[in-house]
Amino acid sequence: MAELPAAEEELTPAALERGRLLFAGPCEFFAGAMTLAQLPPARGPEVAFAGRSNVGKSSLVNALTGRKALARVSNTPGRTQQLNFFDLGQGRLSLVDLPGYGYSSVGKAKAEAWTETTRAYLKGRPELRRVCLLVDSRHGLKPGDEDIMKLLDQSAVVYQVVLTKADKTSKADLAKVEAATAAVLKRHVAAHPVIRVTSSEEGVGIPELRAELAALAA
Ligand code: GDP
Repeated sequence: MAELPAAEEELTPAALERGRLLFAGPCEFFAGAMTLAQLPPARGPEVAFAGRSNVGKSSLVNALTGRKALARVSNTPGRTQQLNFFDLGQGRLSLVDLPGYGYSSVGKAKAEAWTETTRAYLKGRPELRRVCLLVDSRHGLKPGDEDIMKLLDQSAVVYQVVLTKADKTSKADLAKVEAATAAVLKRHVAAHPVIRVTSSEEGVGIPELRAELAALAA
């Protein structure tokens, strides 16, 4: 596993600017996959976004890319149940929006099919550089999150917890959730030590996350 950079090193003005530039560049949907056979060949390094349904995943991808059109793609009925691939900077980095887990309105067989595809993707994608594990800052980690963490530990894929909807939480409650999350992460070998606190609504933490992800780009 690659050595993890210290948090403060990532956030120089130059790093923030690299992040801004990458995410301001071209970004396009290029593939949707519900089965393993439908997974596209990688165009370059990939970063995946995982989290429970309703955690704020579409909103975060939109906030990062500054494009409302991407959300429309993800929210097209049917497309929320597949892995959606977006090309950023013409091959520099692919963003992979994974199906949300947790409560689901679709049938069990269908849910199992895409869960299998997601698990296979997470376990066997050489180009996968990091998983952003989105967690609602009001609720903290849930059992479904810990299942993914175990899988990623086994596959040696680095994952970073991104707390969402920080604007909906008091500073005190946020600090408690951060501390509890950090304590859990210490027990997981592939967990990135930096927890990123974000609000897609208010833009909090978005430039910093862009900078961190841009460091993984080609
Ligand atoms: P997804 O199912 O994980 O893709 O979640 P969405 O992005 O669709 O968001 C679920 C709900 O949470 C929507 O009603 C969003 O408007 C809301 N939401 C997402 N991010 C934020 C945020 O940063 N702040 C607030 N206040 N609401 C948010």
